[in-house]
Amino acid sequence: MFDNLSDKLDKAFHILKGHGKITDVNVADTLKEVRRALLDADVNFKIAKDFTTRVRDKAIGENVLTTLQPGQLMVKLVKDELTELMGGDATGVNLSGNPSVILMSGLQGSGKTTFSGKLANFLKTKKNKKPLLVACDIYRPAAINQLHVVGEQIGVEVYSEEGNRNPVEIAQNAIKHAKANGFNVVIVDTAGRLAVDEEMMDEIARVHQAIQPQETLFVVDAMTGQDAVNTAKAFNDRLNFDGVILTKLDGDTRGGAAISIKSVVDKPIKFIGTGEKMEAIDVFYPSRMAERILG
Ligand code: GDP
Repeated sequence: MFDNLSDKLDKAFHILKGHGKITDVNVADTLKEVRRALLDADVNFKIAKDFTTRVRDKAIGENVLTTLQPGQLMVKLVKDELTELMGGDATGVNLSGNPSVILMSGLQGSGKTTFSGKLANFLKTKKNKKPLLVACDIYRPAAINQLHVVGEQIGVEVYSEEGNRNPVEIAQNAIKHAKANGFNVVIVDTAGRLAVDEEMMDEIARVHQAIQPQETLFVVDAMTGQDAVNTAKAFNDRLNFDGVILTKLDGDTRGGAAISIKSVVDKPIKFIGTGEKMEAIDVFYPSRMAERILG
């Protein structure tokens, strides 16, 4: 995961580790390399620039030049800053409702349906919950079918209504069904489009308004880099979602989305998807991710 970024950051610190006497020029060069590494990982220019400015200020504040191991101190400062940038402490999903309603949003292909299944499986096996999956994609019968396949695989019931073209109604009926049948979590999988469009936004905003979910999650493909960040912003402007799910972190992603998204929408990344299988879900811990990036 993020091998390229890790390599480049490692090389950046070589500058500091290689010198007998460290000068402020060495520190500046290191930070320049750190910034370049972030830009190469597809982190937005301003975020990368602010990042290195903050690290530089801290390095000055801690008198990095007079410490015994300036290289190690700089690694620590960068690690702390990365952790902060990716979200500080980990936060779970809000399961306080009865049932707790979780609305999934995101573009088509982002991994929404797969993640809905993974989350249902996670809540069932790890949190002892009885989840209900709800198919609200009225445009693609294949999507509804896909959710049924997922549900069968993990032993979770899937609620769908053949022929009903009203996602608000389907979601509301599903919640009634959950209440009547002892389901304590309802995960609503919604329709996505290939790009953000007003019609889709209106539709999911209507569903959101009608069911008042405890948790609205935005699912995004980490491989899409800065596009992921722009899409997140568009969805957040409309839905004011509670958290981000980054999928496909097992792929050849450069890491920019993971690093930037929190600072753009100010919402935590809650889970990551690391594969197509139902078990390929991890709670997102910013500090662990920073640890991994910096080795
Ligand atoms: P949706 O249109 O948003 O519901 O997206 P899907 O759940 O259908 O996922 C789109 C494709 O991405 C499918 O082929 C999934 O198997 C794949 N996929 C979803 N999550 C992950 C993941 O974390 N890693 C990988 N490698 N593939 C994933």
